[in-house]
Amino acid sequence: MPELPEVETIVRGLRAPCVGRIIERATIKWKRHIAAPSAARFAERIRGQTIRAVNRRGKYLVFGLSAGTLLIHLKMSGDLSIVAADAPAEKHAHTIFHLDNETELRFSDPRKFGRVYLVRDVEEVTGQLGPEPLDESFTAAGLATILKSHRRQLKPLLLDQTVVAGIGNIYADESLHRARLHPQRQSDTVTPAEARALWRSIRRTLSTAIRNKGSSIDWMYRGGAQQNYFRVYGRAGEPCRVCGRVIRRILIGQRSTHFCPNCQRS
Ligand SMILES: [Zn+2]
Repeated sequence: MPELPEVETIVRGLRAPCVGRIIERATIKWKRHIAAPSAARFAERIRGQTIRAVNRRGKYLVFGLSAGTLLIHLKMSGDLSIVAADAPAEKHAHTIFHLDNETELRFSDPRKFGRVYLVRDVEEVTGQLGPEPLDESFTAAGLATILKSHRRQLKPLLLDQTVVAGIGNIYADESLHRARLHPQRQSDTVTPAEARALWRSIRRTLSTAIRNKGSSIDWMYRGGAQQNYFRVYGRAGEPCRVCGRVIRRILIGQRSTHFCPNCQRS
């Protein structure tokens, strides 16, 4: 599933070809892609809108329009691309935005879990999200407060989008290894120094992954390279890059979790 670095990579790629373009109309082949409003109202309201900005909030792509905001969540298998209007149709391009310069923004989604929203107030969709981990407003002290106020294991806490936005299974494991914290450690036992290490680790992990254009792992077509530098994710049975001990894989709340039993003591 694409996480913050992969979504950010897509946003950066779409900004130049999308900003300033007019959406002439949308083709909706899979009505349930449209989470809000109804597919019919969506098709009506999207017509003639100018794309003013392309940004990201958590794992959502956020398109500022002349009236309202278009949000897209890629979920498990979604991808967005700009192609020439006469490019061959793609089997899984269930929602297509026809732009005013003979190009199309195609939302391809083989597993159909992705969702599209058109709202007046962006908070209707993103209001429950936790802080953006790369924002200046996300501080070490802020993270320490979050950890103290929850009594949960670190791994599921980091995956909770209402706690911190944008982190998924890959970058939670990577961040915890870099911070030398066990994924099952109770959040309220984390010391201020450890919280600062985790804060620094989350930011380094995500910004390095963005520099490498994310990871090409479940979705091979994006060209990211971060998978070549994974510390623990997907490396069960291989040696830890720091200490040489064998990386372990366990299940925490149904999610596979990778860690080094030596670097990340419980
Ligand atoms: Zn290790």
